[in-house]
Amino acid sequence: MTEGHAVMLSGARKFSSVAHTAFIGNREASENGGQWIDSVDPATGKTITQIADTPAALVDQAVRTAHEAFLGPWGSMPPMARERVLHRLADLIEANADELAQYDALESGKPVTYVRAIDVSLAIEQFRYYAGWPSKIEGATLPVETGPSHVYTRRVPLGVVAAITPWNFPLCQAAIKLAPALAAGNTVVLKPSELTSLSALRLAELALEAGLPEGTLNVVTGTGATTGEALVTHPLVEKISFTGSEAVGRQLAQRAGRDLKHLSLELGGKNPHLIFRDADLEKAIAAAATTAFFYTGQVCFAGSRLLVERSVLDEVVAGLESHARSLVLGPGLDPRSTVGPLSSAKQRDKVEGYVRGALEAGARVAFGGGRPADLPDGYFHEPTAIVDAKDDDAVVTEEIFGPVVTVQPFDSVEEAVERAGRTSYGLTAGVWTRDLSKAHAVSSRLPAGTTWVNTYGDFSAVAPWGGIRNSGLGRDCGAEGLDKFLQTRTTWMSLA
Ligand code: NAD
Repeated sequence: MTEGHAVMLSGARKFSSVAHTAFIGNREASENGGQWIDSVDPATGKTITQIADTPAALVDQAVRTAHEAFLGPWGSMPPMARERVLHRLADLIEANADELAQYDALESGKPVTYVRAIDVSLAIEQFRYYAGWPSKIEGATLPVETGPSHVYTRRVPLGVVAAITPWNFPLCQAAIKLAPALAAGNTVVLKPSELTSLSALRLAELALEAGLPEGTLNVVTGTGATTGEALVTHPLVEKISFTGSEAVGRQLAQRAGRDLKHLSLELGGKNPHLIFRDADLEKAIAAAATTAFFYTGQVCFAGSRLLVERSVLDEVVAGLESHARSLVLGPGLDPRSTVGPLSSAKQRDKVEGYVRGALEAGARVAFGGGRPADLPDGYFHEPTAIVDAKDDDAVVTEEIFGPVVTVQPFDSVEEAVERAGRTSYGLTAGVWTRDLSKAHAVSSRLPAGTTWVNTYGDFSAVAPWGGIRNSGLGRDCGAEGLDKFLQTRTTWMSLA
């Protein structure tokens, strides 16, 4: 039992104390079939429990089970019945929200209060939103001019979907994939990150309780190299829906290209966040600090590259520092914590390497920059701002995935837009100004799937989400989020 377990709800403590294997059909497999992986509490570095590194043979079983459910009970369930199941699952997530939040807080280190309020709520919203869709998926009749014919289309599911999720939003990312995939009538094999498997496994139990037929949702725990590879290369998998790093996304694109599987990718970002001097500075600074340090900066849409009009630069840096000093670093499961640890020792090394590299390249640390002295265990890092970095420094161009923001001055609108666009990514961007024309003109020129104006970080199941350039392919959420789990079939019938 770890310090984390001690403060958990009794059900959650029990579930997170025992070893887990792949969830196939209606239960976890009786054996792990291969190796165990330690699930580690990043707040202490101690092992929470063990998770199976599911080998190819069990992945094969999971995919075949999903395929049977696709050909059988889920594929043939009438749309409104599917809707009821998805609504019931949303209700069950809501009823078990505190428990689910504890798993993600324990394994990822994210503050439990925020996980409960944000991640779990977003997961519920995904199921509620997509539960409304199955009975509205329609084809069309087409006015062809090739003689008397009746030509129509049907929108049908793809089959078995491989859903692969990262560790930074475990439950929420699972929901973002599952809700539209299931609403469209597909069945799913979900592979959560090997760092955060518990909420996905519990979700599979809740899905059964909600009435999802056995085999419709299967969860294969494990590493990318063992479980992920076996899953994405399985011949019965029709689509790969991936959220994670650019490097792995590129590998999967190659696999999908070779095997001609459908693919969607939600990848990383290095998101420019622009503050003009005519902005509501109080709000802009609060948002800039929140997005830089929220979830320890381990967020794809973190506004980690702040560009500030020169005359207000000092005020912004001072405001960021005062916000950073008000944050409470601590374990995710402590309700007083507002910033948790980094997810792993490897991730902390990486963040420290970026800060070191920035200093070596001539930049300065405005505040933070190291490990907090009062938290010697776990993988904590202080909220940090870097100033005087150059546009081509790694700390400015690469996704750090830590509580590190660069703050750079600019002198004109043109310069701000041009420099903000110097990024290989294109997930999100932010603009703060009271000038409406400037807001529209600048936001339309920033390379980003989502641009926030006078706000930052808003997210909804209704609004399309995804990246351009190296930030991904395809969109989550909204109607587009459903479309990518459907295909169109056309029927030509002669009326001659
Ligand atoms: P990661 O790419 O290391 O891992 C993501 C998932 O892929 C994990 O489940 C991992 O086990 C699996 N995986 C790794 N190699 C694989 C392989 N060869 N075959 C199949 N699966 C494999 O990413 P991470 O560190 O877990 O997550 C952080 C990254 O995710 C960041 O880059 C972040 O920006 C990105 N992210 C993007 C979004 C978005 O909406 N665009 C949301 C959250 C996170």
